[in-house]
Amino acid sequence: MDANKLNVLRDINYTINYTCDNCVSSVFKPESDWGVCTENSYDHLKHGNTRFLSVYRYGSCPEYKKDITKIHLGTFREFFV
Ligand code: SF4
Repeated sequence: MDANKLNVLRDINYTINYTCDNCVSSVFKPESDWGVCTENSYDHLKHGNTRFLSVYRYGSCPEYKKDITKIHLGTFREFFV
């Protein structure tokens, strides 16, 4: 990575946060920011069945568990928190 770019990223305290996107429990279609969490479900009021919880790719919860196979950061890895 360009040394000056790296310095600016460090200077601004840049961070890449954990999100549903890189959690072991998430399933997303590549073209959508909406998917499901297989760790949490709910009983759908209207249809009366149990469904996995809908989640947004850039959301998160305290049950997060990192899935390294979903993280492709290259030299930006040091900014992942
Ligand atoms: S961060 Fe929480 S809500 Fe999101 S996929 Fe993981 S367990 Fe589910």
